[in-house]
Amino acid sequence: MKLFDLKGRVAIVTGGNGGIGLGMARGLAGAGATILVAGRSKAKGERAVQELKALGAESAFLAADVTKEAECRALVASTVDRFGRLDILVNNAGTNDRKKPEAYALAEWHALIDANLTSAYACSVAAYPAMQKAKAGKIINIGSMTSIFGVPFAAPYAAAKGGVVQLTKSLATSWAKDNIQVNAVLPGWIDTDLTKQARIQVEGLHDRVVARTPAGRWGLPADFAGVAVFLASPASDFVTGASIAVDGGYSSQG
Ligand code: NDP
Repeated sequence: MKLFDLKGRVAIVTGGNGGIGLGMARGLAGAGATILVAGRSKAKGERAVQELKALGAESAFLAADVTKEAECRALVASTVDRFGRLDILVNNAGTNDRKKPEAYALAEWHALIDANLTSAYACSVAAYPAMQKAKAGKIINIGSMTSIFGVPFAAPYAAAKGGVVQLTKSLATSWAKDNIQVNAVLPGWIDTDLTKQARIQVEGLHDRVVARTPAGRWGLPADFAGVAVFLASPASDFVTGASIAVDGGYSSQG
């Protein structure tokens, strides 16, 4: 058995059409996996698929809004129909809306919880029957530094990302008997579309992140290729319920 070999494995990466998701998808593709890129934007999705194919991977885009349970189920069903199996699910899709806690309408709160937490639950539950039948599966959820720390401008996002860690542990303990490993990755501050806006909105953010991060830089989507391969491959078969920070040391700094 090759520890990091993903040849013949099929992965769904939600939000794999950009940012960290595409960084993870590139890693999985490089290790031999077939990648189903899921997202709402077809144009971004088609671009990502072309890029993954250029790396030598089989890849396809499926349009899905993962805040909708039926679309999560359809995503898994189409993947299994098309490629015959589902080995890896990366619950990466997420979004943020920054304001003071008291400024959110309740509908905005629900939308952020749905996008960042309920989506991971719905896709995982949709994937479970195929993984249970195969007696093997890898689920990778994406948390955040707000899974650990409070921030004054992202209460619903932080509540959701804290929930991702507990969801990860709960699914891990429940599905370990099925040989399904469920882990979370907690990114530090990463240069993507999501944070471009934050750097404009939050004065001094760029420099504060560089100063606070022991590695002395913002993260890049490419920093997530290795952890994705590790958590998707036989190398992590006895790792489950863990949350791994990929943050250049941000969360280790007092
Ligand atoms: P991006 O905005 O670059 O990527 C997010 C992707 O998620 C997009 O490609 C988007 O695709 C997709 N997406 C969003 N909502 C939905 C939805 N409802 N259904 C399907 N797809 C959706 O952000 P990042 O790459 O930065 O973020 C990826 C993950 O990492 C998120 O969970 C984020 O919270 C987390 N994270 C990011 C950090 C950072 O510093 N960048 C730090 C900590 C965590 P589309 O445009 O097609 O909707």
